[in-house]
Amino acid sequence: MPNVLVTGGAGYIGSHACKALTDAGYTPVTYDNLSTGWADAVKFGPFEQGDLRDRARLDAVFAAYQPIAVLHFGALSQVGESMREPGLYWDNNVTGSLVLMEAAVAAGCEQFVFSSTCATYGDQDNVVLNEDSPQAPINAYGASKRAIEDMLSGFEAAHGLRHVIFRYFNVAGADPEAKVGEFHQPETHLVPLILDAIDGKRDALTIFGTDYDTPDGTCIRDYVHVCDLVDAHVLGLKWLESGKDSRVFNLGTGSGFSVREVIDHARRITNKDVPVVEGLRRPGDCTKLVSGSARAVSELGWSPGRSTLDEMIRDAWRWHQTGHYDK
Ligand code: UDP
Repeated sequence: MPNVLVTGGAGYIGSHACKALTDAGYTPVTYDNLSTGWADAVKFGPFEQGDLRDRARLDAVFAAYQPIAVLHFGALSQVGESMREPGLYWDNNVTGSLVLMEAAVAAGCEQFVFSSTCATYGDQDNVVLNEDSPQAPINAYGASKRAIEDMLSGFEAAHGLRHVIFRYFNVAGADPEAKVGEFHQPETHLVPLILDAIDGKRDALTIFGTDYDTPDGTCIRDYVHVCDLVDAHVLGLKWLESGKDSRVFNLGTGSGFSVREVIDHARRITNKDVPVVEGLRRPGDCTKLVSGSARAVSELGWSPGRSTLDEMIRDAWRWHQTGHYDK
């Protein structure tokens, strides 16, 4: 089975990608520094611990496994943290990706699938984003991802590094078999925080801002099931394998849900109360981010069949009750 290097394979999305790759007949090789990931989450394929900025380590891993492609998930990904510590994002995400691309090109590995974000679009109220929407990130996380997209264009022009870029925002849910799932320490994402509030692991869920210009005053996001999301990455890999040109795809369902709507769904699915506190806006948050995925559907044949809020919360809840990782 051909090897695929998965950076960030010990993280939430990367670990699900490793499972999907295995199911699709590839061997995922996880490369992760465990800064936010979990060794326990590497259940499919070998694990090589290392940092993206460590060129010698990357060279050794490329030489050992001769991967046919890189799926690049490894990144810091918290909007709030990126506003407080932008340097971390430029160093880890941008420098790390640069070193990775250089190592890939040097090893002759010229197929690259990159996990980007709709945060590269910035705040474009009441617009459903498409791939040609202008990119104007309002936080350092989005800016770091946009910079990496720019680097990819340069590396393709100069070195033939063909790539597929996926821009997505809110990923939720878990493997329905609960072999892998979402587990961050500390947790900052809405759905697992709601589930923590439900089962008493935290006192309450704080809603970050109730004065946004939306129908109920809370931010609106487009949530995609993690299993649908990683399926798109496998399709992106096949796209490159079939010799097609580099391409950008947004991944979203096109329907947005407010924070209050997500809370209401969680209450209904779990049949439990969600203790809530209304708080201030979180710096760096956009009012509304909703992305259609017409291009991914028509060109990749992607069908996000599991991305209903109910299914995402149901799968996340199952994992929440049974799964966790230790370092
Ligand atoms: N959010 C919130 N309370 C929390 C965590 C998140 O109200 O404790 C809101 C956040 O402001 C955003 C949405 O939930 O509008 C999704 O946030 P998350 O951090 O999950 O993902 P992001 O949109 O930042 O990628």
